[in-house]
Amino acid sequence: MKVPLCNSKQVEQKVLCFFVALLLLSNYSCKTNKNTTLPSTLNPLAEINLGPLDTVFTEAPYQASNKRINDILHTKLELSFDLKNKQLLGIATLTMKPYFSPASSLQLNAKGFEIKEIAMLSGNIKTKLKYIYDNKILTIDLGRTFKRTENYTIYIDYIARPESLEKYGYESTELGLYFINADGSIPHKRTQIYTQGETEGSSCWFPTIDSPNEKFTQEISITVPKKFLTLSNGLLVWQQLNSDSTRTDTWKQNLPHSPYLTFMCVGQYAVTKDVYKDKEISYYVYPEYEKYAKDIFGKTPEMMEYFSKILGIEYPWEKYSQVFVQDYFSGAMENTSASLFGDFAQKTSRELLDDNDEDFIAHELFHQWFGNLVTCESWANTTLNEGFATYGEYLWFEYKYGKQKADEHLYQDLQEYFAEVENAPKELIRYTYLSKEDMFDSHSYQKGGLVLHMLRNYVGDEVFFAALNLYLEKNKFSTTEFHQLRLAFEEVSGEDLNWFFNQWFLKAGHPNISVSYLYNDTSKSLTLNVFQENAEKNNIYKMPTAIDIYVKGKKERMNVVIEKQKETYTFSVPQTPDWVNFDAEKILIAEVSQKKSVAEWIYQYNKSMLFADKMQALTNLNTYIELPVVQELFLKAMNDAFPEIKKYAIKQSGILVKYTDTKLKQVLIKLVQKDENSQVRAEAIVALGENYISNDLLNVYKKSLEDKSYLVQSKTLQNIYYYDKELGMDFSKSFEKDSSIAIITALAQIYAESGTANENNFFVANANRFKDGDKYTFAKQYSKFLLNKNDSLINNGLLLLENVATQDKLWYIRLAGFNGINVLKNMYNNKQKDAIAKIDLLNKTKPNSPQIQQLQGVLSQTERQLSRISSIISSIKTTEKNSNLIEIYRSN
Ligand SMILES: [Zn+2]
Repeated sequence: MKVPLCNSKQVEQKVLCFFVALLLLSNYSCKTNKNTTLPSTLNPLAEINLGPLDTVFTEAPYQASNKRINDILHTKLELSFDLKNKQLLGIATLTMKPYFSPASSLQLNAKGFEIKEIAMLSGNIKTKLKYIYDNKILTIDLGRTFKRTENYTIYIDYIARPESLEKYGYESTELGLYFINADGSIPHKRTQIYTQGETEGSSCWFPTIDSPNEKFTQEISITVPKKFLTLSNGLLVWQQLNSDSTRTDTWKQNLPHSPYLTFMCVGQYAVTKDVYKDKEISYYVYPEYEKYAKDIFGKTPEMMEYFSKILGIEYPWEKYSQVFVQDYFSGAMENTSASLFGDFAQKTSRELLDDNDEDFIAHELFHQWFGNLVTCESWANTTLNEGFATYGEYLWFEYKYGKQKADEHLYQDLQEYFAEVENAPKELIRYTYLSKEDMFDSHSYQKGGLVLHMLRNYVGDEVFFAALNLYLEKNKFSTTEFHQLRLAFEEVSGEDLNWFFNQWFLKAGHPNISVSYLYNDTSKSLTLNVFQENAEKNNIYKMPTAIDIYVKGKKERMNVVIEKQKETYTFSVPQTPDWVNFDAEKILIAEVSQKKSVAEWIYQYNKSMLFADKMQALTNLNTYIELPVVQELFLKAMNDAFPEIKKYAIKQSGILVKYTDTKLKQVLIKLVQKDENSQVRAEAIVALGENYISNDLLNVYKKSLEDKSYLVQSKTLQNIYYYDKELGMDFSKSFEKDSSIAIITALAQIYAESGTANENNFFVANANRFKDGDKYTFAKQYSKFLLNKNDSLINNGLLLLENVATQDKLWYIRLAGFNGINVLKNMYNNKQKDAIAKIDLLNKTKPNSPQIQQLQGVLSQTERQLSRISSIISSIKTTEKNSNLIEIYRSN
């Protein structure tokens, strides 16, 4: 599974993480790390008053792997749907055996089912079985004792009712099976049904042993109205038209996998076929995106070939499909041979110019080996799935676009990990998590990937990939703990690697290292001190690393192994070095502080080819920006080879403008006109808008409105608007028909400020086009727009906001809808106070004046509105979906 968190969203994510940390303290269960893309305006902390929170710390218990008592060998499902009631009608036939010891009873996970019949199946003969069911666990009396050499077959006729689970306190992200506009009652919304197994969602739609250390083969027959397509794991082996205008599709997977990877999806799609060797590849997109399917997914066969090659194991599953769904609460999910993606990643070729989601595609594909072929035995070992999938992104970028692009990506991973570890350092392998969902964090993903990168650097490519091959071969179709990974690396390298695995997988945090050096001109020697600052309680890290010493433009590399808290190295060096580069390959997960002169930082920027070195130089030089030599360097960095370096340099324009006014302007204009990366062009447009107001720029902006990039266009529209509001509104009108989210987000912001009643239609018409996290922006901008509009417009708007606050899957979007309503409530509160104050004053000064009567009319209308809003607010608070958010609502 991958969580969308693009670079530009880091700050907002940090805010949200902090926000969520507060929620967690008050004992909420939330799933930030599975949340979708957050809008750039997101800052919930600034918008709501959380009020006093109860701080409850719970001692986490040891989270053991699920005990194996019975083993499912094969799962056969026959499924159809009651679309009106959002229910699944199922018959499950499970072929089982005792795991080792004889068994006379069986426990299955089955959440919120209505059970119709349970029987033992012997050939065609059904013998009813006794069972107990508590809405979560089905305990079945097998009627006799079975030995491990005996298989038995259980027949279960049931109805799955996922939406009933919310009554029992399940989050809307835990329902396992999602009916989206199933009865077709919402206009302009697609009908889809899909499942989300990770972590324990599968038992919401079929009875199973819902644990990653269970594995089975499967056959799923899905009966749907014939206009729908279906997709599941394995191959479509049979299709049958039924007399009632339905069709039954049977999907069969002959290779075993874990229950959380079982998947099913129903919807209307255009399917584009591709091929990898003799295997079918397919892309399920919405019909209007058919012509872009290969633009989005077209690199998949090349990725499969590359991953198969470096791992030495061919893509293991029978086919590979990728499908989009709407209202998905996370980013993407690696269901075996059928990966699912939130439709935020479904883009036109023009939208792909601004951002593609190849990292998601690579991530889910790499899971097909790490996670699906070899599965973490329990969620304590989540990083064995997610750390590898995250590193799969690096491997793809490195292969396809070179080390520079891959390093840029890895640097963001490091920052994400640092942002999280600041508040909550945790072990990678964590047996004492509070909730399984907490395991899907920047430790399991980003730190996990970074640790693998460090391991690769230590053992070398040949050992690294041979060890991965051994690990996969030895454990395929099975489950592992991190020890199995260590043993594979030890077997291949011939080296005891406990030190590495213990310190990086079992220890929380990372070393803080200070580095300093002294050059002795007489002895021509350089003394380098390395000190581990946070090395309390045996917390000393062993770190093999490289130190590059640059003299007269030439580099000499020293390889050292840091093992003590304080290490001192002496090197013979002919003259004062230009630059001493500690951790020269920027491999260590460590915070390194090293005092350097401005000249050294500049030297580092100019000399290094590494993204991390350049970024480190610029962030350190930021404080010296008053120096002309540093200003020159920032201007130079705006033309760096790395787009992210360019963007960082451009972001400093607000300070640079004080010193290099005209020159900066010229550089920015040139970037807007010439840079090949649209994100860089957009950043330059933003910098121009923030720092310059001049007529000549209007021509630059008008030209930029013709840019192919939606992102550039959207930023340009905002610049024009802030330059000349009337002109901005005029141009915005001509972009209203645009389908890009970047454009409609920009328009929402402009209309929120200057829109009249005429623009209400824009918000109403586009409400459904804001997807996932962008709905947050919608709710916020729409409530701002509604302020000071007439009551009937506001009342219509309130219905839309109420819908967001009660219906959305994501808690923070429901909260945004709720906050929007409160913004309007505050407006009426002020209006009420104002009217009362004026009436009081008039009663004293001009009693019986006609103005009083007029004001009383205003007051009673305002009070009617307030009472209307109050009843909306209380109905939002009592919505089932919102029961877990009650603490937040309490303060409003
Ligand atoms: Zn993943």
